[in-house]
Amino acid sequence: MPDCCSCGDVFQYETVKVIRIQSANYGTIKWFLHMLVFSYVSFALVKDKLYQQKEPVISSVHTKVKGIAEVKETLEKGMKETVRSIFDTADYTFPVQGNSFFVMTNFRKTEGQEQGLCPEYPTRRTICSSDSNCKKGRMNPQSNGIQTGKCVKYYNTTKKTCEVTAWCPIETAEEAPKPALLNSAENFTVFIKNNIDFPGHNYTTRNIFPGLNTTCTFHKTRDPLCPIFRLGDIFQETGDNFSDVAIKGGIMGIEIYWDCNLDRWFQHCRPKYSFRRLDDKSSESLYPGYNFRYAKYYKENNVEKRTLIKVFGIRFDILVFGTATLFIDFLISTYSSKCCGSQVYRFCKCCEPFAVNEYYHKKKFENIVAPKSTLKYVSFVDESNIRMVDQQLLGRRLQDVKGEEVPRPLMEFRDLSRLALSVHPSPPKPGQPEEIELLSKEETSTSHGSPDWCQCGNCLPSKLPESHRYLEELCCRKGKGQCITTSEAFRKLILSRSTLQFFLLYEKPLPEPDADSSNRELRHCAYRCYTAWRFGSQDLADFAILPSCCRWRIRKEFPKSDGKYSGFKSPYGCGAQQS
Ligand code: GDP
Ligand code: ZN
Ligand code: ZN
Repeated sequence: MPDCCSCGDVFQYETVKVIRIQSANYGTIKWFLHMLVFSYVSFALVKDKLYQQKEPVISSVHTKVKGIAEVKETLEKGMKETVRSIFDTADYTFPVQGNSFFVMTNFRKTEGQEQGLCPEYPTRRTICSSDSNCKKGRMNPQSNGIQTGKCVKYYNTTKKTCEVTAWCPIETAEEAPKPALLNSAENFTVFIKNNIDFPGHNYTTRNIFPGLNTTCTFHKTRDPLCPIFRLGDIFQETGDNFSDVAIKGGIMGIEIYWDCNLDRWFQHCRPKYSFRRLDDKSSESLYPGYNFRYAKYYKENNVEKRTLIKVFGIRFDILVFGTATLFIDFLISTYSSKCCGSQVYRFCKCCEPFAVNEYYHKKKFENIVAPKSTLKYVSFVDESNIRMVDQQLLGRRLQDVKGEEVPRPLMEFRDLSRLALSVHPSPPKPGQPEEIELLSKEETSTSHGSPDWCQCGNCLPSKLPESHRYLEELCCRKGKGQCITTSEAFRKLILSRSTLQFFLLYEKPLPEPDADSSNRELRHCAYRCYTAWRFGSQDLADFAILPSCCRWRIRKEFPKSDGKYSGFKSPYGCGAQQS
């Protein structure tokens, strides 16, 4: 077995460690790329309307057509005499299956048909010159009856056609009347009732809202919610001429689109009506228009007769679509379920059982700040958080800059114990305790000469050139009070020569021979001890600025012979440097 040698190896899980870099540059690039991807995805989603939590609608439609038309009918071909008759709803509407209704706009009647023998209507297929052109018993779907085998004269014309057993006389294949007989159907109105249901969202509604004016007429802009439509207006919307369509008939789609947002706060569910011509309106169409035949039967002198009517008209198909969305609720639920896996989890009650996740999260994500010359950290003894200053200070003293509060990183136990190791060093050399005693007395006496921004009374004016002075104008406190340099901790952790020497031995096993270099080593080590103590993580320590009181207290303890100190240097750029 190559890699798996023990039980422990089996029960392991490898994951990738993520380091979060706090950097404006990388952050900008990241967001730019995110925005690029996001815009593309949004574009694709919006284009295909995939952003909605869609649900198809279940709908029922009921229609009622109203209107009266006066029809002038020519009684028989060639005769000038006409009759006027009134057509009402029962005359011009016909039951149609599904979400459709039909309005008759034109017709042609063949009256007084009875079963018998008569010549076929003359067409290329039916014209004959002798009986041999006709065949007894022949029929086809286009013919009107069964051939008898005789070729006979077609009424009072010179043409001869095959005789058939059929409803006689045969209907003539004439064009539909022009203009359409029920041209005035343009003014008919239809009232559409539409109930819809989104079963997944348990939501039902209808297109008739409370307070609807029943005398209204739909208008795209003036009254877009009125469910009563004038037929002529529908055709106007699609750019068709009603009178033209009325002659041969046609099919018109009435689309009802329900765009519903079912979020509690923005509930909105209204129908949008639109129209679309559905039949083939091109002039080359083989069978233009929409028509069908029906017959009215009656008995005359005990002989069964019928009136055949070829009806032309407009079939209206009502198409209902809809989408119901729950966008905000969807977001909220997504957000709250996600909160435990993200930064928010700390403040989220629901996350108590997720302490293990928090542990993994902490281990997986490491936050670091991009190193920059403008970055500085300061710490005040009277504040629990530390402050991050990431800006050009332009001469403002560090004491007065607000910065951004960040939690103080906890020092790792190993580091603490390392410090603690030397807190009780080898027995103090004679005279040292008095020295400290003396110094603290001295400090209280210097408090009168401290600069005005100092709150602890122990800071000293900076000796750096004017342009960099602001860096050292920082006190150990934000408000008035005791100085950190007077604390037991400061004395033991920062000023203790034996502690510092102990640390230095780690780095340099052979100490510097001359006093000045040895002091420099100890001084720099004391700075580092202070930043490690007050700022915890080494990442911050490199950018941490010592308060003036601490800086001068350390310098006093481990002085330089010429007294010219170079001060803080930013590890990534040109900080305060003495030229
Ligand atoms: P030098 O010994 O003559 O160069 O002068 P200093 O006693 O001022 O020590 C300079 C060194 O200590 C440089 O490496 C500085 O980066 C470091 N140093 C001085 N002040 C600070 C400070 O406020 N914070 C940090 N982190 N380092 C400092
Ligand atoms: Zn001070
Ligand atoms: Zn102080």
